[in-house]
Parts: sequence; C-alpha cells; structure tokens
Amino acid sequence: MHTLLISDLHLDTARAGITSLFEQWMASGEVRSADALYILGDLVEAWIGDDDDAELPARIAAATRAVNDAGVPVYFIAGNRDFLLGESFARRAGLTLIEDATVHTIQGLPTLLMHGDVLCTDDIAYQAVRRQVRQPAWIAQVLAMPLEARRAFAAKAREDSRAHTGSTMETIMDVNADAVAAAMREADVTRLIHGHTHRPAVHRFDLDGRPAERIVLGDWYEHGSVLRVTPDKVELRGLPTA
Ligand code: MN
Repeated sequence: MHTLLISDLHLDTARAGITSLFEQWMASGEVRSADALYILGDLVEAWIGDDDDAELPARIAAATRAVNDAGVPVYFIAGNRDFLLGESFARRAGLTLIEDATVHTIQGLPTLLMHGDVLCTDDIAYQAVRRQVRQPAWIAQVLAMPLEARRAFAAKAREDSRAHTGSTMETIMDVNADAVAAAMREADVTRLIHGHTHRPAVHRFDLDGRPAERIVLGDWYEHGSVLRVTPDKVELRGLPTA
C-alpha cells in the first residue's frame, strides 16, 4: 500500500544520467507495485508541443506507458516548463492529465495536489508572465510555429527564467503562507503536496485549529527525489544516481 509522487525532474538531453535514473526507477518494483504514481509538473526542462519528434519525449512516453500498462495509474499535473503537454501525448504515454489544484484521496487522506507555482504570489513578475502564457490564444500561436522555431523559443525562455531566478530574492520565489492557507481552506484539506520550489520538506502547522501539513517534493538535479505515502506516514527520499 503506497503511492509515489515526483516532480521537477527537468529531464533534458543535456543531463543524460537523470533520464537513465528516471527510466530505471520507473521499471523498479517500487513503482510497479504502487497504487498510483503522480508527476506534479516540470517533468521536462522544456516542452515545445506534443508533435516534438525528438528522442526524449519518446523515451518518456515509453517509460510512463509501461507503468500504466502494468496497472499503475500515472497522473500528471503540468508545471511551468511543460504546460504545453496535451491530450495527444498523454494518450501516447498512458498519462491521466489532472488540473493543478486537484483533490485526490491518497492512502485514505484527501490531498490537494498542485505544481506549486501559483502559490508563489510574492513573485509578481512571474505571476504576470504565467497569466499571459496560459491564455489559449497565446498557446495556439506558439503551437502554430514550426518545431525549429519553438526549440529556439524554448531556449530563449529558459535563459529569461535563469536571469529572473538569479536576480529575484530567495523568499520571493518561495510559496506565500497566506496563499497556502487559502488554497487548503478552499479545498477543505489538511494535506497539500506540491513541487516547483525545489525545497523538499514536510512542513507541519496549524490550519484553523487543525493539524495540517504541506509536503514539498524535491528536484532531480543532483539525484532523484521521491515522496512515498503510506496509510500511516510520508517519506521523502533521495535516489542516488548510478
Ligand atoms: Mn516549476
């Protein structure tokens, strides 16, 4: 009885070791015997559209499809790097797309699932960009560009993101406590699981007189990071690279 959650792998051809680690872990007994696997966004460094004919998307689809075929549902919430991932790839990859801020009962407890970026409300500049790029008209315009132009566009967006991250205060890029409380109150839950901030931790606090927890998933830059939820505990764990 266990459910697994991961996020922020940022899979990229430039970091081949992490892609191999992901494939190995996806083929492991831990994953194949799970009740479900949740990928809470930023699975890849950049997603340019479901029609991308590169090797990496094909390898990801093979890995996730095999897990789904083994009887383990694989849920996916889009992150800020892969919100262009759509139903066409999801079908091919055996993924079930779910909305950001969905409540699923995980090992008996109603749990709010998010990528996490909408909780970073102190980063006004980021939130403005987010609103712009999530508009259907903007998305349609990008997807209408030729693949090569989209590849160049994604490279530019990554540079801009690095520049913003480098020049923005650490606290501004973390979640806002009021936004967390509001989201959990709205969803009527005492457990929230999200990624995005790359600050893996289990935060326990009081929410309107009830014990509550916010669990932050880790990124896969230096090694893997997995959250394992069982009926009686949560465990954040690193996966060593080979
Ligand atoms: Mn993110």
